[in-house]
Amino acid sequence: MDHFHYKDRVLYCEQVPLAQLAEQFGTPLFVYSQATLLHHLRCLQEAFAEVNPLICYSVKTNGNLTLCRLMASHGAGFDVTSGGELYRALAAGGVGEKIVYAGVGKTDPEIRYALANNVFLFNVESEEELHNLGDVARSMGRVARAALRVNPDLPPKTHAKTDTSVKGVKFGLDIETVLDVAHGVLGNPSVQVVGLHMHLGSPILSTQPYKDGAAKAVVLIQRLREQGHQISLLNMGGGFGIHYRKQEAQPAQAFAEVIVPAVKQTGCRLILEPGRFIVGNAGVLLSRVLYRKETGGKHYVIQDAAMNDLIRPTLYGSFHRIWPVAPAAGLPAPPDDYEAEIPDTFVQDVVGPVCESGDFLAQNRRLPILQRGELLATFSAGAYGMAMSSNYNSRPRAAEVLVDGTSVQLIRRRETYEDLVRPEVEL
Ligand SMILES: *Cc1c(COP(=O)(O)O)cnc(C)c1O
Repeated sequence: MDHFHYKDRVLYCEQVPLAQLAEQFGTPLFVYSQATLLHHLRCLQEAFAEVNPLICYSVKTNGNLTLCRLMASHGAGFDVTSGGELYRALAAGGVGEKIVYAGVGKTDPEIRYALANNVFLFNVESEEELHNLGDVARSMGRVARAALRVNPDLPPKTHAKTDTSVKGVKFGLDIETVLDVAHGVLGNPSVQVVGLHMHLGSPILSTQPYKDGAAKAVVLIQRLREQGHQISLLNMGGGFGIHYRKQEAQPAQAFAEVIVPAVKQTGCRLILEPGRFIVGNAGVLLSRVLYRKETGGKHYVIQDAAMNDLIRPTLYGSFHRIWPVAPAAGLPAPPDDYEAEIPDTFVQDVVGPVCESGDFLAQNRRLPILQRGELLATFSAGAYGMAMSSNYNSRPRAAEVLVDGTSVQLIRRRETYEDLVRPEVEL
């Protein structure tokens, strides 16, 4: 479900035509729908209401302060993976008591920063990290609360670069070692193991991995308690998939059906760390066609968004729906299945201006004839779009706008050339 829809062959975000936003703010432009964002947060809150979950929005997915502030004001906490994300979460009105901190490489200054701000939980990924967390906490006269992140060793679920629960990845503790690692801090007054954490990978389109992961968690929590640990938290991470190609995602309710029974069995409080599920379908990347060209039997449409704006297609081979903002009469608007044969379309590559052959938003994609100056929408770009953007080729980052009904708010201005060189130090 999202609030991007065509009306009389014109694409709207809520009540605002996208063409109007392109005129006002230029392209490339990220456009977010507030109603979509809040709808998806609410879906999770409602689906899991029975176990009163702590829903920690994953800041790395899209850390824009305005979006994070919306999350906080609608009851979400935050999942952070660095000191910088913790800074964002706090700046957006987050409180330490609703922040969980993940990541394999937390530095001592980051740990101190988190402890000083009363971060609720550290998701710990190695034995050394657990002991170091205790040492840093002791040096500050604090007690750190830890959830051990376990790698439940499940079959592959998604792209190799984003699957985090198969054997041998850098994430979490091997499931066979969790009990030994926990035993090592039993009685340590500076660090308490109070929970179990897993983040299975992303995006996941099936509920089965959550069912399997939760079943393993139930057993482990039992063993940890037998060892003498007071386990009160089960953190099932994020990773819920969204619609990229068609309507392929599972609803929140489907994930709740496999997770909630396990949570109840443990008597733990549930923590979730969704990112993509909340913001992914809430954003589009708007771009303008610069040129068309044909070479070696291939048709290219060159437009002004590039891999530095949205790196997912070239990094993960990801599919994003792309369609004209004002499709010509006779075209389906938009097609139900973007991979199907669509009349009056032909196979094209959608590429950007960056000097890399890997600079594309789509390859071998059926699209209608596009005109110079025409606007394109790349859908489902709210998650890991702006967050993974760069200044490669000295391209200023795109602007971001938030639409709420008929109102439009610029939530990040377009970068300038001056911004590009500002941190540099000349001798
Ligand atoms: C990236 C990440 C998330 C969020 O993943 P989504 O797929 O965006 O929901 C949650 N938890 C951890 C530990 C992560 O690394």
